[in-house]
Parts: sequence; structure tokens; C-alpha cells
Amino acid sequence: MDVAETGCHWFVCVLGMMCAMESAVGIDLGTTYSAVAILDQNNDPRTLLNSAGEPLTPSMMCFEGPRVVVGRGAAKAISTQYENVADCPKRDLGERVFRKVINGRQYPPEVLQAWILRKLWRDAQRQIGPLTKAVITVPAYFDEVRRKATMDAGWMAGIDVLDIINEPTAAALAFGIQQGRLFEIGQTNVPRRILVYDLGGGTFDVTVMEIDGGQYRTLATDGDMRLGGWDWDQRIVALVADELVRRIGFDPFEDQQFSGNLWLKCEQAKRELSIKARTAISFDLKGKSFHIELSREEFETRTRDLLDRTMFTVEQTLQEAGLEMDQLDVVLMVGGSTRMPSVVRRLRSISGKEPTRSLSPDEAVAHGAAIRAGMILSSHVPGQGSLNVKNVNSHSLGVVGMDPDNKQHRNGIVIPRNTSLPVVAKRTFFTSKPNQRSIKVSIVEGESANPADCSLLGKCSIESIPRDLPVRTPIEVSFRYEENGRLKVSVQVKGVDSRLTHQLHRENTLTQEQMEGWRDFIDQSCE
Ligand code: ADP
Ligand code: MG
Repeated sequence: MDVAETGCHWFVCVLGMMCAMESAVGIDLGTTYSAVAILDQNNDPRTLLNSAGEPLTPSMMCFEGPRVVVGRGAAKAISTQYENVADCPKRDLGERVFRKVINGRQYPPEVLQAWILRKLWRDAQRQIGPLTKAVITVPAYFDEVRRKATMDAGWMAGIDVLDIINEPTAAALAFGIQQGRLFEIGQTNVPRRILVYDLGGGTFDVTVMEIDGGQYRTLATDGDMRLGGWDWDQRIVALVADELVRRIGFDPFEDQQFSGNLWLKCEQAKRELSIKARTAISFDLKGKSFHIELSREEFETRTRDLLDRTMFTVEQTLQEAGLEMDQLDVVLMVGGSTRMPSVVRRLRSISGKEPTRSLSPDEAVAHGAAIRAGMILSSHVPGQGSLNVKNVNSHSLGVVGMDPDNKQHRNGIVIPRNTSLPVVAKRTFFTSKPNQRSIKVSIVEGESANPADCSLLGKCSIESIPRDLPVRTPIEVSFRYEENGRLKVSVQVKGVDSRLTHQLHRENTLTQEQMEGWRDFIDQSCE
């Protein structure tokens, strides 16, 4: 049986069991737009429409007194009450607070994400009745801290988060299923090696995967957490700003309301340039009318370096996967920004094949998450499980130690990036004095030997080490990355039976009590 047939066979036997079970949704919690999908009776993923009847909900919220409006209403409020609007909180996940103060209050980004989730959740429930479970997607390049923040956001939104899944993996699942279906009616073969190029609004992800029947294996992943359509928008904003400074000495960045409005117009202009060779940005300011023309050619020249950055990452990721371009079967484009003709052209030219956009670029990720949710629920049924997803970690995990030569702190890598998950790595630490009762280990994610250039995941304190142990007693610490990129730590003293307690003290994270408080508040205030 060849690969294609295996995929098709799996499709029939695994998904065929899902329909009778409880429902769970897949949520693509995007930087700029979010979407929710569910498997229908035929086990086809279907995007749910929000309360405004739209498949995509802008990932923004507006604080209007005691009410928090999420989605289109908030996007509109950018031009009238910019100071009350929080846009793209996903960009700030991992930080202690969101970049902007709203109504004199600083919100943790995961709390803002929870409001978006709450709204998506309510809209979904309105259509399909009571729901408890969901799979939420994250960029493959998200580090552990951001993954945890996403799960916390889900909890605060009142969602039982079945799992988090990488966005490109979700897109590949949706693609695999679609191709399996096509194959069933004899149109195409299931491809083996696939590069997912995901350029969204705020993040960029590349993932190289191998699909072998029901087996989805990630070979390598890389990306940029701060590169997306938003950066393309800002190039147009900068062009208009230069023009305004030159013509009337007005700097739009000094007027937040105006610059918020200008951004919306520039984003619209960018979309027009995907289908037209020229466009114009028009607005009134200080009693004058402005009309600034922009050609696609100039837009592409002004954003070439951004595109270069994505292509550089594509090449690096392929190298990490140990593949050449011509060994790829499919280059799959997802994310709204792949609608820019320059992206398609460049991908075609570096890969030598026609990039595929057979899935809706804004819905593929949510569809994959819905499939994943179905897979998890169906695993409770005996005899299931011929579908398997294998991931890698996108950042190296390290512990901070002291370099004995120069007494400087350095990052000792314990689990290198792009290791297949789950993975366990053990490190032995030694007590530095007799009767030592505790040890602290700093854990970081990143590639640099200098811990300052890495992201601090937290400090693990190992307490209640048995009394009266001699100096240099070995203490073994196990670091385990789960399939979804979340970390678990466990500790053992060799030859000693008693279990040690340990706690991971995370940076910039909310306590359970704080989360409970937010959960109630979000529930009451969400429109
Ligand atoms: P995310 O998942 O990061 O929220 P999406 O995949 O939803 O992102 O893509 C949103 C981005 O796609 C935005 O930056 C938006 O401006 C851009 N985009 C959407 N449609 C087009 C288009 N026709 N041309 C260019 N960019 C587009
Ligand atoms: Mg996306």
C-alpha cells in the first residue's frame, strides 16, 4: 500500500468515528484575526461565524466603561477612541504587561488574550450549544513562556484547553486531510515533504514536515515572533508620515488617534495592492484633503528587506531539516499576508515549484485545530490512534551555570532546538556544602551562550533535600518537553528514596489567585 492510500485509509477509519462524540472546537488565536472551527457531521472542518456573521474576528478589544467589546466593533473604535483599544496583544505575550496603558490600567497580555477567547467562545456556543473543550493554536516559534501564557488565557476564558498545537502543524493537518479526500476521488496524491510558509499579521513561521499516511512529523521549524503583515503596513505608514512632515510639518506619530486611523487606511491600501498595480491613501487633515498615491512596485521596493528576512529563514529551516529545495513536494502558503503577490513570486523562484494555496489562508489553521480536537477526543475510543503528530522544540533549553575559567554566567544547552518531542534530558547538579537543603537552577530558552540574550523561563528551586548529605552530593534534574512544547521538571537525589519538592518560579506569570480574579471579571465584562 503506498503512502497516499494509507492516508486515505486512515481518513476513513479514524475520522469516521468522531461524529458520534462530544464536540470540541479548534481556535486559531491569531495576532490580527482569530477563527473558530468545528468538525461537521461528515467530519469536515467548518469555520463558525461570529455574532456579526463573519468567519474572522479581529483580535482587538475596546474598553467601553464596564464593557469590553471584542472584534469588529473594537477595530472600528481605533479611529474614534484609540486610547481605549488594545490591538494585537499576542505580540506582547511573555511580557509582564501590555505595551499600552488603557484607562490608566496596565493589563497582562494573556488577560487580553483571554477576553478575545471568551468572545470567540460565546459566539461559538451561541451556534452549537454548550461547549467545554478546545484546541488552541500557537506559532511554532512560540517559546515555552508564551505557550503557557496561551494556556492560561484559555483557562481565564473558561475553556478546558485540550491541547495547544503549532499553527503550521495545524495547517499541514488540514492540508493532509484535504488531499486525502481529493485522492479518494482520484485527483491527486498525498505529498510527502511539505514546507509550510505562514506569514500572518504579526508572526512568521516556517516548518518543514513529512507526511506519511497518518503520520505527521516535523523535521525543523523556525520563525520570527515579530514579523508579519503589520510590519508591511508600517512601511506604508512611514511613507505617508514622511510625506506629511515634508508637506505640512505634521508628524502623525504625535497624534495617537490619527496614527491609529492612518494604520487602518494603510492596511487597506496594502490589501488593494495585492490585486491592483496602484492605489491611493486619502484623508482629511487640518482642513486639507490629502491623496497619496502608491504603486505596487514602490511598495515592494520598500518592503523587500522584510521579504528577504522570511526567505532567509526558509533556507535556514530547510538546511536544519537536512533537505534541498528540490526534495520538497509541496510549498504550502498560509496566513493572510501570503496574498501579497511578491510572496508568491519569491517562493516560486526560490523553490522552483508553484506554491500551493489550496486551503483558505485565514481558515486553514483553525480547521487543523478542529481536526486535532477531533483526534484527541477520538483517542478515547478503543482501537483509534493511527494518526500521529510529532513535533520538535523551536528553542534550545538550557540551564545557567558558572564558567569556572572566567566566573561568568553561561547557558549550558540541555535540549538543542529541533529535537523531536517529547524529550527528556537529565542534568546532575552537586551540592556545594555539607547539609545543603536547597538548590536553585535558572532555566532559559535560546541559542546564545550568554544567558542575557536568552529568554528566562524561570527558576527551579529544589527544596527539602535530606539533611546531612555530604558536599558534592549529586542531584539529578530531569527536563521534559511535552509534545506541545510545555516543560515539566522533576528532581531526584541518587540513592535517596524520599521525593524532593521542587517548584518552578516563573517570570512574568500570573498566580492562580490572580487568574481566578480575572476569570470572573472577564466573564462579567465580555460583551
Ligand atoms: P494572524 O494569524 O497573524 O492574525 P492572518 O493570517 O489572519 O494573521 O493574516 C492577517 C494579515 O494578513 C494582516 O496583516 C492582513 O493585513 C494581511 N492580509 C489579509 N489579506 C491581505 C491581502 N489581500 N493582501 C495583503 N495582505 C493581506
Ligand atoms: Mg495565523
